[in-house]
Amino acid sequence: MPWQGDNPYHVWLSEIMLQQTQVIKVMDYFQRFIDTLPTLADLAQADEQTVLALWSGLGYYNRARNLHKTAKLCAEKHQGRLPVSRSELEALPGIGRSTAAAICSLAYNQPEVIMDGNVKRVFARQFMVAGEPNKAKTVKQFWQLAERYQKSSCPGTYTQGLMDLGAMVCKKNKPLCEHCPIEKSCLARQRDRIHEYPEKKKKVVQKVINIHVAFDETSNGLFLEKRSAQGIWPDLWFLPIIAVESHRKPMFVVSHKLTHRLMHIHVYDKRAIQQKKTKGQHIERSALLKYPHPKALIHILDQYDNHHMP
Ligand code: SF4
Repeated sequence: MPWQGDNPYHVWLSEIMLQQTQVIKVMDYFQRFIDTLPTLADLAQADEQTVLALWSGLGYYNRARNLHKTAKLCAEKHQGRLPVSRSELEALPGIGRSTAAAICSLAYNQPEVIMDGNVKRVFARQFMVAGEPNKAKTVKQFWQLAERYQKSSCPGTYTQGLMDLGAMVCKKNKPLCEHCPIEKSCLARQRDRIHEYPEKKKKVVQKVINIHVAFDETSNGLFLEKRSAQGIWPDLWFLPIIAVESHRKPMFVVSHKLTHRLMHIHVYDKRAIQQKKTKGQHIERSALLKYPHPKALIHILDQYDNHHMP
């Protein structure tokens, strides 16, 4: 992985990116991020728009905002470096126990243990830990096991090994047990109950939301508004959300999944706009990378192009 090694900035950035995103996707984003902002100091000095633009499409934008805040705090209070103690790291925005521990063990070789989804899966199977993996009681058990088996003589290697084992051997579907170095002690393997661990999350009822937006593209570009700091997609650029008369029909509808919500975005041509535009601007598609926007905008553009291809 491009982030492996003992650079604390790289370890931290990758840990934050990997929290809600798959490895394969993170690889491109990570590379683009460090090409543009190669050091912690560069991140601290960047403006928020640049940081959010580099994050466009990854979702959970608070991760990017916290990343930026933390970089600035490090510049002000920690001589431009990420602190070396877990407690100081945990006091920074967006850094929880596992991220702090990952930085401590991978970058500073301290005897700390980490706990991400992959590691939880290994422990859940190895010790047949009952309970949903994100419930506080279960997480506590995982931490206790991880601490018990931590090898302090080579903490960085232990942490990396555990992460790699979870990501590449003890896979979610079809784990490669015959290649697993801890197969002999694995309770779930011995009892042929691997598929029961970790326990599946109970399904959350998804809320459905409908929004209506106007699509207005001229030779000057696509008309976008910067959304307010509150509500959905704070501070991101998106099509204007409009009220529509009931007789109007949308050009098309795009369905977009958010955490626990399914959003149907009804896209109208510009004639549906009743209010006078007061904010926003036309932005050429080629310049979109500089304007942080949600992934839904890309889905809409794809659909629009499909509908309007000759
Ligand atoms: S034996 Fe199989 S299920 Fe158990 S830890 Fe190894 S890969 Fe995972």
